[in-house]
Amino acid sequence: MKKYVYLFNEGNASMKELLGGKGANLAEMTNIGLPVPSGFTITTEACNAYYDSGKAISPEVKEQILIALEKLEQHTDKRLGDPTNPLLVSVRSGAVFSMPGMMDTILNLGMNDETARGMAELTNNPRFAYDSYRRFIQMFSDVVLGVDVYFFEQLLEEYREEKGYSSDPELTAEDWQEVIKGYKEIVKKRTKKDFPQDPREQLFLSINSVFDSWNNQRAIVYRRLNKIPGHLGTAVNIQMMVFGNMGDDSGTGVAFTRNPSTGEAVLYGEYLINAQGEDVVAGIRTPKPILTLKDEMPTVYQQFADTCHHLEQHYKDMQDIEFTVERGKLFILQTRTGKRTAQAAIRIAVEMVAEGIIDKKNAILRVDPDQLNQLLHRRLDDKVERNLLAKGLPASPGAATGGVVFDADEAETLGNEGKKVILVRPETTPDDIHGIVAAQAVVTSRGGMTSHAAVVARGMGKACICGCEDLKIDLSKKQFIVGDTVVNHGDVITIDGGTGEIMLGEIPMIEPELSDEFKLLLEWADETRKLGVRANADNPVDALRAFEFGAGGIGLCRTEHMFMDPKRIPIVQKMILAETYEERKEALDLLLPMQQGDFEGIFEAMQGLPVTIRLLDPPLHEFLPDKEELLVEVTKLQITDPDNEELQYKEKLLKKVNQLAEFNPMLGLRGCRLGLMHPEIYEMQAKAIFYAIATLNDKGLPVKPEIMIPLVGHVNELKEMRELVINAANEVQQETGKEFNYLIGTMIEIPRAALTADQIAEEADFFSFGTNDLTQTTFGFSRDDAEGKFLQAYINHKVLPENPFVVLDQEGVGKLVETGVKLGRQTNPTLKTGICGEHGGEKHSIEFCYNTGLDYVSCSPYRVPLARLAAAQATIRNDKIIGEEKI
Ligand code: PEP
Ligand code: MG
Repeated sequence: MKKYVYLFNEGNASMKELLGGKGANLAEMTNIGLPVPSGFTITTEACNAYYDSGKAISPEVKEQILIALEKLEQHTDKRLGDPTNPLLVSVRSGAVFSMPGMMDTILNLGMNDETARGMAELTNNPRFAYDSYRRFIQMFSDVVLGVDVYFFEQLLEEYREEKGYSSDPELTAEDWQEVIKGYKEIVKKRTKKDFPQDPREQLFLSINSVFDSWNNQRAIVYRRLNKIPGHLGTAVNIQMMVFGNMGDDSGTGVAFTRNPSTGEAVLYGEYLINAQGEDVVAGIRTPKPILTLKDEMPTVYQQFADTCHHLEQHYKDMQDIEFTVERGKLFILQTRTGKRTAQAAIRIAVEMVAEGIIDKKNAILRVDPDQLNQLLHRRLDDKVERNLLAKGLPASPGAATGGVVFDADEAETLGNEGKKVILVRPETTPDDIHGIVAAQAVVTSRGGMTSHAAVVARGMGKACICGCEDLKIDLSKKQFIVGDTVVNHGDVITIDGGTGEIMLGEIPMIEPELSDEFKLLLEWADETRKLGVRANADNPVDALRAFEFGAGGIGLCRTEHMFMDPKRIPIVQKMILAETYEERKEALDLLLPMQQGDFEGIFEAMQGLPVTIRLLDPPLHEFLPDKEELLVEVTKLQITDPDNEELQYKEKLLKKVNQLAEFNPMLGLRGCRLGLMHPEIYEMQAKAIFYAIATLNDKGLPVKPEIMIPLVGHVNELKEMRELVINAANEVQQETGKEFNYLIGTMIEIPRAALTADQIAEEADFFSFGTNDLTQTTFGFSRDDAEGKFLQAYINHKVLPENPFVVLDQEGVGKLVETGVKLGRQTNPTLKTGICGEHGGEKHSIEFCYNTGLDYVSCSPYRVPLARLAAAQATIRNDKIIGEEKI
């Protein structure tokens, strides 16, 4: 018979797939002797069996649950439903990958009229017993019976008002008994049934609900965002309840073994005295920092600190731990690898190497390259004075500016329209997740560093400020007030999640810098990786940034971006409008020194590292005004001011726009086809490059130029363009009397080029795979339109697993890359190969490039550090380097 239920002492940490993360860790902690309340785990396989049999728990699983329950009763010496000695349990979800707050939990299960009475006597604390019972009715009714908590809260509020109480602690045991009566009436009215009194019935209904919650809306959204497969299912943990709400010698809290925001190696967390676990996470009461527990309960604190140390050494990673103190006795309820910001991930990884907990290779693997985006973005300029409006807890670092919104749905709508918004809420719940995704940042007026908003925002790398109690939020008026200042819906604020500061208006931001730990981690990555990392940069400023971020060269300089400069556009247009060769030459002669200056700047910034310059690629109409707008202008002028001098020029422009119009410009006169049809353009560009080289040579500065011809599909195209470039080089060499080295290569971005790469490689010193166009031409998807028109729907309906313009399609486009490399190297063994499409900065695609044997990837300057790390991870994973040994 298959085993569907495991007691905690029967499992271990390696059984995550079966027991879920929480269950596996509860088992592991039990086995290493930590004070974990006893319990058992129903496996993820039982969840899948539940769904397979049309949402029913099979008799086999039921029987195993009952056997485990009996053992739990024996072990705890308590019995479910026994009024003289009641066992109360929690029922919690536990997926393989942590999905905090997304699924359901039921606490205090086992409570009924009888056991509540028994508990009251047994604990000599009737108030506690009835408070627990009413909490159970409320939670169970909400989660299992589908009765909205609103009804219970409303009743409680009315009761408090009637009695003149201002808060819950004022309610006596008798009051809670009255409230319970009311609660049971609500249940009867809403469900047409009595609140279930049989604890076994309660238990099985709860297990069903937790299984069902695997497929609730927020869990589905969370899985989609975090790429967690839907077939995994959740485990269910049944665990003896311990109570943090038994008086002032009890409490509950959550703590990280290191600061999850900065990575500093200090215990970091918070707790509440006389409270249950959900009170901390829900953010309803603002908890105290964990360090004050040292004064309030010194022995418990020391025991907790020792346990944290033990767990960190055991798991060799920072842990996120939930604990409860019941009448002075510490219990550990959960441990898991703590979510952390990128900054913290780096610091923890580097410091754990210094502490001898992990080695460098593991440190490299510990940091998710995607997370680094957080650190590679702009932050608030420290030199600009901050007009501080309010200050809350610095829950997740980063800076953001945006209009204030108070509702998650609205944040989503506006965010999807491309508007920058900051979601401001008293607190957030898992139902707000879509709004958090779409907002630039989140601010809450309640809740601590481990509240929902903080945890979720940190996971997403979003700036977040929590517990900013100075903010008096009025959701109905859509405004918040701080002192005398009223901030209305739509008003712009700026926040600094690293300091917790909120400012009115927009504050300038500055470029990021790498911390010392980050630099060290990247040094280790550089020692490990075998794949080069270059940057795509089109001007000296970006090139310098790329150099500072550790790029090993420029993999793509798109020269058309230099043409787009507003001061140059009129000259470019003059060149396009030219009717004779002389006229065109005149314009090109004006452009040449400008391009030369740019090239000199880029070469200089790169200090002798290779620089790949691509000759003009886009269709010429991109440099002319929009046809519709031009037509309107010309028509207006013809009517109102026919003698206007501009008119003639605009009419000429319009004629040219019409001449250049194509049905499929991306498949039209662009790339090397331009070079073949208008050789003088490429000649000018090639000469500008060679003059720049000559100038730098004069200054004694090293240069490694690589000239790249775009959009080649047939070897003859490259042959002609190669000759053109060589001729330009010879001319400049003769004219300047200088000799210089350079390479000539091509982009591979048309399937035919990949398929005939053996022929093309005979004319090329290097290939750079332009996977943006290669994806476009392989799928036949327009890179400009597909995403908006159908690609998102394709992904939603799982027609495609990912957006192929973001993550390289290894099966199709990737096969062409592999073919190109293989064929190319057959005829040209020294051929250099790289990739310069957007995929060059995406971690999965980088791993593919490494495995395909490319020499380098090239990505935007801001993604260079990410690519360096991803390249090192690819080496470690694929060369199976464990420890310092290669196996
Ligand atoms: C490409 O096509 O992948 C590429 C890098 O060139 P561009 O994006 O400029 O077309
Ligand atoms: Mg391209």
